Amino acid sequence: MASTVLTGAAAAAESENDRRAIAFIKAHEEQVRPLEITVSTAWWNANTSGKDADFTAKVEAQNKLDSALSDPRRFADLKAVHDAPLSVPVVKRQIDILYLIYLEKQVDPALLARITTTANEIEKSFNVYRAKVGEKQLADSEVRKILKDSKDSAQRQAVWESSKGVGPAVEANLKQLVILRNEAARKLGFKDYHAMQLQLNEQDQGQVLKLFDQLDELTRGPFAEAKREIDAKLSLNYGIDVDELRPWHYHDPFFQESPAIFAISLDSPFATTDTLAICRKFYTGIGLPIDDVIARSDLYEKQGKSPHAFCTDINREGDVRVLANIVPNEYWMGTMLHELGHSVYSSKNIPQSVPYVLRTDAHILCTEGVAMMFERFSKNGDWLIKMGVNVPNPAQYTETGMKMRRNQLLIFSRWCQVMLRFEQRMYADPTQDLNKLWWDLVERYQLIKRPNGRNSADYASKIHIVSAPAYYHNYMMGQLFACQVHNTIAREVLKSNDPSKAYYTDDKRVGEFMRARVFAPGRMLPWNELTKYATGEDLNPRAFAAEFGVTTK
Ligand SMILES: [Zn+2]
Repeated sequence: MASTVLTGAAAAAESENDRRAIAFIKAHEEQVRPLEITVSTAWWNANTSGKDADFTAKVEAQNKLDSALSDPRRFADLKAVHDAPLSVPVVKRQIDILYLIYLEKQVDPALLARITTTANEIEKSFNVYRAKVGEKQLADSEVRKILKDSKDSAQRQAVWESSKGVGPAVEANLKQLVILRNEAARKLGFKDYHAMQLQLNEQDQGQVLKLFDQLDELTRGPFAEAKREIDAKLSLNYGIDVDELRPWHYHDPFFQESPAIFAISLDSPFATTDTLAICRKFYTGIGLPIDDVIARSDLYEKQGKSPHAFCTDINREGDVRVLANIVPNEYWMGTMLHELGHSVYSSKNIPQSVPYVLRTDAHILCTEGVAMMFERFSKNGDWLIKMGVNVPNPAQYTETGMKMRRNQLLIFSRWCQVMLRFEQRMYADPTQDLNKLWWDLVERYQLIKRPNGRNSADYASKIHIVSAPAYYHNYMMGQLFACQVHNTIAREVLKSNDPSKAYYTDDKRVGEFMRARVFAPGRMLPWNELTKYATGEDLNPRAFAAEFGVTTK
C-alpha cells in the first residue's frame, strides 16, 4: 500500500518540467544535505557539551544552511519549476515542500536583520528580568514555589503581578516585532505573519480555527467540571470563596498546567526501577526496537549539558539520538517513552527508498502525536505491572494517573485555545487593545476571572509569543493525532471497545501498524492526508473528547 502512495498510482510520463524538477532536487541534495547534517551534528554537540566553541560552530553551520536556502537565483529556478505542471507525484511533492522551505528564507536581508535584532532584544529582557516583591528579587524557581505553596492570597497576588512585570517592559518592542513580521509576510504575498507561518507549514488558518471550534465545543463541559473540582479544592486551601479566585491562585502563572492539588504522587514505583530497561523492553515488545538509539544517546545529567530532552535524526539514514537527563521518577518515565516515540518515527523506520527530502515525519504535529501516544502509559498501573514494575496498588495508581492526565489535557487544551486565537487576532490587527483581547480570551476559554481593574500587557509575559510564534496549536493537534491513532490501534489491532483503557506491551502487531500506516509514507502525505491514511478520518477531536466521556455521532 505504501509503495502506491509513494510512487503515485498513475505516474505519467516525465515532462520537460519534471526533468528540470528532478535536476533541482538532485542539486539540492548534493548541496544542502551535507549542510543539514552539519547543522544537526553541531546542534547535538552544543547541547551535550555546553561549550562556547560548540555553540559558535552551531551558529556558523546554521548560517551556511540559511544562506544556501535564501539564494534568490536558486529560488527563482525553483519557483519556475513549482509554478509549471509536474506529472510525477513523488517529484511534485518534493518540489512543493522545497518551495515552502526556500520561500520562508526569501525575506529581505535588511528586514530580517531588524526582526532578529528586535526578537533578541526582547529575549534578553526576558533573561535579565527578575520578579521583585518589595525590595526582594525572586528567581523564577522562587516565584513558582510561592505560587505552588503559599496560602496567603495577598502574597500570591504580589508575586504573580511581579512575575508579569516583564510584559510592560517588552510591550513596545513586541508590538514593533509584530509589525516587522507582518511586513515580511506581506512582502512574500501573505495577508499577515500568522497566516504565513501556518501556510509555510501546510496549514490553513480557517481549517485550524474550525478544528479548534469543534474542540472547544466538545471539551467545554468536561473542562468546566474538572475546573469546578479544582476551584473547590483551591478555595478550601486558601480559605476564600470560589468567586474570589483569581489568576494567582492557580499555581502556574498562566494556568497552562494543572495545580498540584492531588495528594498522591506517582513517583514511588520508579525509585527502584530502571527507566531505560523498561523502555527497551516496551519498544522491543511492540516490534520497534530502540537499542541502536540508546547506544548513540546521551541520557544522564552532566555538567554543561542541556537540562531538557529531545530527539534528533542526524542524517536521515538511521543515526537517531536522544538527549535526556533521566532521574528515577514518573516524569522521566513518561519523557523517555515520549522521546523514544520520536525516535521510532524517523529514518530508522521510514524506508530508505523514500527520497531524502521526504524521509522524515509528515509534520511536527504527527511526530509529537506519536511521542504523546506512547508517553501516556507511564500513568497506567496495569501497563507498569505488565512491564515488571512493582506497583503496590495498580487500580489506585491508574485512577490517580488517569485523573492527572485528564486534568492536564483539558487544562492544556483550553490554554492552547487562548494562545492560538490571541496570536491569530494580534497579527490580524496589532493596533487593537491587546490587553483586553488577552483577558477576554482567558475568561472565555480558561474560565479564569481577570483581576479587577487591571490594564497591563500580560500577554507579553509569555515568551513563546516572541520565540516560538504561531506554533502552540501544533501541540494540541499532536494530542488529537495521538488519541485518534491510539483509538484506531485499539479498534483495529486490539479489538478493544474501550480505547481509553486499552494498552499494549508485548504485541508486534502494534509496530507493524505504525510502520505501515504512519511511518512508511514519510512526508509524501501532508498531515491531514496521513491522518486519513492511518485512521480513516480527517484529524478531528472526537477520539480526544471520548477520553473525557464525551461521545459523538
Ligand atoms: Zn516531543
